Amino acid sequence: MSVFSSVEDGGAGLSVASSAQGNEIIFELYTGQESSPRMVTLRSGVVPEKGKAYHVVGVWDKEKETARLYVNGELTSTFGTSGDFVLPENPVNQWFGIGCDAGTSSRGQDPFIGDVFLARVYSQPADDAQAAALWSDADKGVAGSVISINDVMLFPTCAVGPGFKYMVLGTGFQDGDAVKIVPVSDMDNPVEVEGDVYDGHISISIPDGITTGNYSFYIVRNGAEAPLGVARLELSDNPVPLSAPRVIAHRGYHTLSGVPENSIAALKASQELGVYGCETDVWITTDGVLVIHHDGVLSGMTLQDCTYEEIRNLKLSNGETLPLLSDMLEQTRTGGDTRLIIEIKEHSTDERNALVTDAILKMVEDMGMEDHVEYICFDRDVCRRIASAAPDAMVGYLTGDFEPADLAEEGIMCIDYPFSTLNINRYMVADAHGLGMKVNIWTVNSDEDMLASIALGVDYITTDYPDRLMEIYEMMEE
Ligand code: MG
Repeated sequence: MSVFSSVEDGGAGLSVASSAQGNEIIFELYTGQESSPRMVTLRSGVVPEKGKAYHVVGVWDKEKETARLYVNGELTSTFGTSGDFVLPENPVNQWFGIGCDAGTSSRGQDPFIGDVFLARVYSQPADDAQAAALWSDADKGVAGSVISINDVMLFPTCAVGPGFKYMVLGTGFQDGDAVKIVPVSDMDNPVEVEGDVYDGHISISIPDGITTGNYSFYIVRNGAEAPLGVARLELSDNPVPLSAPRVIAHRGYHTLSGVPENSIAALKASQELGVYGCETDVWITTDGVLVIHHDGVLSGMTLQDCTYEEIRNLKLSNGETLPLLSDMLEQTRTGGDTRLIIEIKEHSTDERNALVTDAILKMVEDMGMEDHVEYICFDRDVCRRIASAAPDAMVGYLTGDFEPADLAEEGIMCIDYPFSTLNINRYMVADAHGLGMKVNIWTVNSDEDMLASIALGVDYITTDYPDRLMEIYEMMEE
């Protein structure tokens, strides 16, 4: 009942440490003298790989005053500890949790995402030979250890319908592999589907009868199975096929080593990577010069309150001089097909916002760059102003607080909304597309959010890691 429980309160747990703690398989135990009980953590040094199964044995041997942790039959660590095993006092911590630290929430603290095939609790401590015997007796076909799939990634939530091509990303799939999908709420009714195997993924056709819910995915090969993870499938009449949205490098491709954000170097790196867009931020000085920087302040100077003369010698971390919009446009013209996605920063007054907007539009027109730029802004008045002055320009509204139809009425034909907004208000993507609008999503940096964004069916993804997003696209290629 309370053997596995929150070890800060008492009990023990088998789990995977958080990424900050190294992601390794750990065994935690609350033991020691009654006057000074203590939490013991045994670290295996084994970092689990996605798609693989592990056999883990945690032992507390009171007589020998040691705790031991075994992974796949091998002793990985021991810890000397005397006294009694301490059960948790707080009733809310008294529940069974393997793969997490059973804290006060129903999910536990730091749960891992995966499947537990089998769990047993023994009343006697195992020695090395017994732990090895447990491993050799384990059903390795079910445990999946004979199947090696790496870099597994699932689309966390995906709208599907019968015949929809769903893919599980990963490497190591083999011709003849099938995918078994098991409803989490109805595990006795799995469905097995033949897969089409590609370098970076396996593709399946969603069968009839799938309903909305969470599903466990398994790879099936020659009668053996290995877990792939859990994802949510949502039944839709009109699911959007999985494809690769255009990539926009947020403040340029600045996560490349030695490249500061909002620099000519970050624009050049974006062009070399071959992304669709390079986003950049524009301020206007008191004397009407358009300069590039994200924050309003650089080296203690408030850009919109300075003359250009006062800030012209400021340097970026790579030694580059504070770039001008004209420099960025010139590099956009000469360096490739990457578009410049110009964010008009919100200035101190509406008048200043109008001034910077008009100055940018004029520069783009004077340089003949209308077909190489798009605009974005958090200020709806600015978006409206651009839409009215340059009806052919793509303008995206960033704040995320209006329905697509409200913006379309004003000629603002792109919702460029935060991930947190669109992931919750998924209908907005379909609404926008129904109105002929584009959808951009920002700022999407984790693998999981990238896959969620792809499954949302957006047109553009803005990210600090455009290289990683393109790697994921390569895995999706047929
Ligand atoms: Mg920006």
